Amino acid sequence: MNPAKRPIVDEDHEWSPDHELRLPIDAQDLPDFGHWVNWNGYHYGNPTGPHEQQIGDILHAKGGPHFAYDFAAYFNQKMRSIILGLPPKLPIRAIADGFVVDILDASYLTSITLAHSEKMPNDLRERLTSDYGHVVPVDGLAFGDRVKTGEVFAHLFADEVPEEGTDKFARLVHLHFNLFDSDNSRRLNPPDPVNIFGADLLSKQKGAPQGCSHFTVDQQINVPVFIANYRKLIINGFEVKNANPFVYG
Ligand SMILES: [Zn+2]
Repeated sequence: MNPAKRPIVDEDHEWSPDHELRLPIDAQDLPDFGHWVNWNGYHYGNPTGPHEQQIGDILHAKGGPHFAYDFAAYFNQKMRSIILGLPPKLPIRAIADGFVVDILDASYLTSITLAHSEKMPNDLRERLTSDYGHVVPVDGLAFGDRVKTGEVFAHLFADEVPEEGTDKFARLVHLHFNLFDSDNSRRLNPPDPVNIFGADLLSKQKGAPQGCSHFTVDQQINVPVFIANYRKLIINGFEVKNANPFVYG
């Protein structure tokens, strides 16, 4: 996959020039990858007041802000279908050279933050940072470690697939990915990764967000949806029912 060879810009504010970025997931690591489906993308919600729910089921969506892109679904060329849920332990790669500046160790909510600078920054606000959620760090990864572009520093977190007939459930295997810029004020409103990487690498196509009791992908994508790895899938408290189960071989 080609890196996004463009300066990091958001509208007219260039906030970290000349990085060459690559996506945190390699298409080659996914079976028969076609393109990403934006199942739960950036959503500028207002948690304290009424706001317009952009996508999905307006009755069931919680509609909170989501300043991130979830790598959660992709189009499988061979099956001509959308696969919701990524393979467990999928390798996660650094989008650019940088340093590990935070590891929040919290099981499913584990996240790792990289700062993309030539030297370990004294102040996180100095540089572009990238943030990777629902991951497991590779053995020995520690604060201050240097990572190179494309280096695998983590894998996707996955619940065990529950046994059939039990009440247990699995959470969606996905990467919660966001970017922050060097300007502290803009940390409050980070950019949409789709705007940074471009629609040629990340789909702008909207699918239903987390918080829906069922999910739909955009009606323009008139193809089957398969759920990977699950017998019973719960997303934000709602059970996903109306999709065909599919388990990777
Ligand atoms: Zn997310």
